[in-house]
Amino acid sequence: MRLKGKTAVCTAAGQGIGRSVAEAFLREGATVHASDLDAEKLRGLDSLGDVHTTQLDVTDGQAVAAYVDSLPAPQVLFNCAGYVHHGTVLDCDDESWDFSFNLNVTAMHRMIRGLLPSMRDAGGGSIINMSSAASSIKAAPNRYVYMASKAAVIGMTRSVAVDFIRQGIRCNAICPGTVESPSLEGRIAELGRSVGGAEKAREMFIERQPMGRLGRPEEVAALAVWLASDESDFVTGTTQLIDGGWSL
Ligand code: NAD
Repeated sequence: MRLKGKTAVCTAAGQGIGRSVAEAFLREGATVHASDLDAEKLRGLDSLGDVHTTQLDVTDGQAVAAYVDSLPAPQVLFNCAGYVHHGTVLDCDDESWDFSFNLNVTAMHRMIRGLLPSMRDAGGGSIINMSSAASSIKAAPNRYVYMASKAAVIGMTRSVAVDFIRQGIRCNAICPGTVESPSLEGRIAELGRSVGGAEKAREMFIERQPMGRLGRPEEVAALAVWLASDESDFVTGTTQLIDGGWSL
């Protein structure tokens, strides 16, 4: 039990990578405060361990403030919520820009700002932010505001790491390549409409992975467990690529 005695906070824990991470944290003995926009999706987590589930829209500043006030000091914060906008700069109007930045960046800022003081005062901890290989690391077509926002997550991560390094706070970013998840299925269906079918679209996503396969949420969860645990105690400010060689 690598996380026994730790309290972890996970956003977007209802499905995909967030769900896998919440499940892995529970399996490793953590007490988990799991939230999602859609409370229904959090069902089933309670059978896995000591979990507290909450409906939370991380773009709602007031709701986030009330939520963080209600939490005990955590040792782990996993900021997972994020959204993939499809298109170039010319497809991204102000509304799309604001939506992506609110969800992918501002929400993480609010969670960190809200929880870091209690983490620090209780002896420190590990903040893990979900970025992406598609950011400042790897260019992907039609990912204009997504890449901009995920690059911002990397900058934010490094800033928190350097500012609080002497106060027991570690902060790292996870940068996956393409990982199987419900929202990826949506992107495959969307691309399928313009390339002649979902199967063709899936092949295109797989083809861009040099390993010839997509990542699995469990693989990202294993990395998150390591970053949350004391095993990674000398690791801060890093961008942890887990992309099947996509960015090589
Ligand atoms: P997903 O997109 O399938 O699920 C996202 C979850 O977030 C859902 O449960 C949804 O209800 C929740 N959510 C959406 N809006 C929310 C809000 N405002 N407040 C709280 N919760 C909200 O999951 P995924 O594809 O595993 O993506 C999770 C994270 O991983 C995202 O930040 C994404 O950008 C990042 N990521 C995913 C991939 C991938 O290929 N799947 C690759 C790199 C990075």
